[in-house]
Amino acid sequence: MAGNSTHLDLLETDPLATGGRVFISTYGCQMNVNDTERMYALLEMANYTPVDSPELADVIIINSCSVREKPVHKVYSEVGKYKKLKDKKPHLRIGVGGCVGQQEKGQLIAKSPLIDFVFGTDNIDLLPSLVSRSRAIDLELPQREQKLVEAQFQHRAPYHVETLVRKPGVATFVNITKGCDNFCTFCVVPFTRGREKSRPLQHVLNDVRELTKRGVKEVTLLGQNVNSYQSECGADFADLMQTLARSTDLLRIRFTTSHPKDFNAKLVEVLERNQPKVCEYVHLPFQAGSSRVLELMNRGYTREEYLEKVQMIRRIMPNVVFSTDIIVGFPSETEADFQDTLALVKEVGFETIFAFKYSPRPLTKAAQFEDQVPEDVKDRRLQELFAAHDAQAMPMVTKYEGQILEVLVEGYDQNRGNLHGRTSQNKNVFFLGSEDLIGKLIPVKITKAFPATLRGEVVPPQ
Ligand code: SAM
Ligand code: SF4
Repeated sequence: MAGNSTHLDLLETDPLATGGRVFISTYGCQMNVNDTERMYALLEMANYTPVDSPELADVIIINSCSVREKPVHKVYSEVGKYKKLKDKKPHLRIGVGGCVGQQEKGQLIAKSPLIDFVFGTDNIDLLPSLVSRSRAIDLELPQREQKLVEAQFQHRAPYHVETLVRKPGVATFVNITKGCDNFCTFCVVPFTRGREKSRPLQHVLNDVRELTKRGVKEVTLLGQNVNSYQSECGADFADLMQTLARSTDLLRIRFTTSHPKDFNAKLVEVLERNQPKVCEYVHLPFQAGSSRVLELMNRGYTREEYLEKVQMIRRIMPNVVFSTDIIVGFPSETEADFQDTLALVKEVGFETIFAFKYSPRPLTKAAQFEDQVPEDVKDRRLQELFAAHDAQAMPMVTKYEGQILEVLVEGYDQNRGNLHGRTSQNKNVFFLGSEDLIGKLIPVKITKAFPATLRGEVVPPQ
């Protein structure tokens, strides 16, 4: 692993590598959850023990998100909660990472003296050294620095960092790209995560093989726009999917997020060729139902083109389940535009939607657009959208009652006293059974459907 030797060298030479306890508070998307996992794994290599309460920690890290409303405010308010802890334990160090760290850099420290260090989305590998430099202050060591900021993009460095997962379980995530070049006019990600970089295919393949040796049966390939993946060897996302399907022991492969504009016929062909290993679930954000708004958003497709992609995928996977992201109240969105969004939700029949009120983000083009939609109109549209979706969602899940679905058993839920796993369509199923089923694909008959989960019983072998 590229970064590993550096951290081990650090351990051998750093007198502060005696460790301590670390708590990470995570906001935002799966990308941030994955980054938190990597932070914990790197800090464990430097002798830190993860704890699940800030009260127990010597180091608290806030892994922030700035995709939607009031991100900086959320950071300050969480940091403020730790004031009493810091008064009691002066050695406590507080760091801020993630998108707000990237965006605000040293300003965070200038405004809140409780924060000791800040690091950006491209500087996670520096975390063990940052923490230890920050803690050196207490020991009056020469490397001590009062306040530390590491938030520069590694423009030239290739994206070689391994996916570090401490306890991968049966199903896990594997990063394949980071950053984004699309510059949707509402989105801060290209500014907080930098230009898109793809990991070399061989690195992803090695990771997945390593994970399968540790018991992983399913991976979800992760990136802001996975289907614009481009390995340095020339392989695209379809080639990567084909390689993973053919050359690993995975039982299932998922991916998120795929961008409608990059969902091409080659990819669809690979999905078809690799059924049922490739799951029948596609998260395909459409954002807005009106082509006029889509153009203002710089999404690169029209409403009609989006619907064509949906049909193209449905032709090869008739049971596919779609989920999507939607923004309401984008600047200049009229009532008629919003009705187009409602109509598209109905037409595609999404089982799950993630819908948000538009919020202006710094540096983005849309923040400068005139005709910002009033807050009360956004609120009303969001409620209407959820109500319309609720009305159609229940019949979509009750259809599973009585069906026998293949479930990959992921674990045992102590609270419910049940095994749980997911169907190819990403539905969570709970059922009774023995723990030796964990990690296996088994048939489960669905006895009851709820809005977000299914209940079932294992079908005994004939
Ligand atoms: N890369 C993904 C894509 O293109 O679909 C999206 C990643 S973004 C982190 C997750 C979702 O947040 C977006 O799909 C969008 O619906 C929402 N989002 C992003 N910027 C937003 C903004 N300024 N206001 C409201 N929602 C926003
Ligand atoms: Fe943001 Fe658009 Fe990139 Fe998604 S594709 S991360 S919405 S800029």
